[in-house]
Amino acid sequence: MKNLIQDFTKEELSEKIKPSFRAKQIYQWIYKKYVNSFEEMKNLPKSLKAELEENYILNPLKIVKIEQSIDGSKKYLFSCLDGLTMEAVLLPMKKEQIDEDGKVTKEAKFTICISSQIGCKIGCSFCLTAKGGFSRNLSAGEIVSQVLEIKKDNNIPENKRVNLVFMGMGEPLDNLDNVIKAVKIFNDIDGLAIGTRRQTISTSGLSHQIKKLGEANLGVLLAISLHAVDDKLREELMPINKAYNIESVINAVKQFPIDQRKKVLFEYLVMKDVNNDIKSAKKLVKLLSGIKAKVNLIYFNPYPNSPYQRPSEKSMLEFKEYLNKHGVICTIRQSKGLDISAACGQLKEKEIL
Ligand code: SAH
Ligand code: SF4
Repeated sequence: MKNLIQDFTKEELSEKIKPSFRAKQIYQWIYKKYVNSFEEMKNLPKSLKAELEENYILNPLKIVKIEQSIDGSKKYLFSCLDGLTMEAVLLPMKKEQIDEDGKVTKEAKFTICISSQIGCKIGCSFCLTAKGGFSRNLSAGEIVSQVLEIKKDNNIPENKRVNLVFMGMGEPLDNLDNVIKAVKIFNDIDGLAIGTRRQTISTSGLSHQIKKLGEANLGVLLAISLHAVDDKLREELMPINKAYNIESVINAVKQFPIDQRKKVLFEYLVMKDVNNDIKSAKKLVKLLSGIKAKVNLIYFNPYPNSPYQRPSEKSMLEFKEYLNKHGVICTIRQSKGLDISAACGQLKEKEIL
């Protein structure tokens, strides 16, 4: 059986392919020169190219569909080698500015939102991904290839900085080994060279896995999907809270190694009349005391027959103001891609509505 070449770190590849400096060359062909076949790896000897051809698969993902939002974000539907599909989203964060002479004066910045699983087991009541059930984990190479294909498709130069958020389909910490491996492959200087501080892993709060991720000491940023401040409500919204309650999540966060200049991100999905009262804001302030935290309020993004509603702008602002006044940094996420269902919690495997 052939292996997917993107599943291997450079170190692993250099164990398999001799002489070992070839691994570096292969990495550069794949991740910097964006080749689509082993044949194009010009500085490799013919025999090695044949060996690679025989034993490895290159580029496992096919773009099935691209949807472009009016805000510039693009949603990609990929099919994997087994025919299953999943989504990733390119989010341009700053518009490119061009002066009168046609020169680019301000370069565009990108964030890419990637999936870690096909479907999700966690079953949060507000999330569309959850409705499709769970199919399987993505391999490290399938995670990495999402970014590679999106860079290729948009002619994003290899040295252009991009930020990654593991906020697409799936629960990254439920596929921890492959996610850790993908982080390392992303980070490789001969590969996509995306610094670990540019990679954010978002989790529904698998406390023991947060601990493990911390022990791996990768330098990644951590985001916690908190969404509620008391266990009863959180259990209703996120069944995982029965196994890992709020206290256990907070304790795990307190032990997580974070860069002096960075903060842990707490995502708080706001649903009208569910969790946006000031009493909750008050509790949230208390909960986060002693943690270098910042809160990101997310408007609930509705979908057909969704059980919750989007809160008013006024109530979002009031919630935010309360947190700010009480010393908690808080921003409101401007969800992108709403018109193409590419916004938070709207990614899905197939048409399920
Ligand atoms: N499984 C991980 C990673 C996915 S991130 C996690 O849950 O953290 C996706 C983010 O979008 C999470 O914060 C999730 O809670 C949020 N989300 C899910 N459904 C949503 C919806 N309908 N509207 C807005 N945000 C949603
Ligand atoms: Fe899974 Fe995250 Fe959706 Fe919950 S919000 S079902 S953990 S993808």
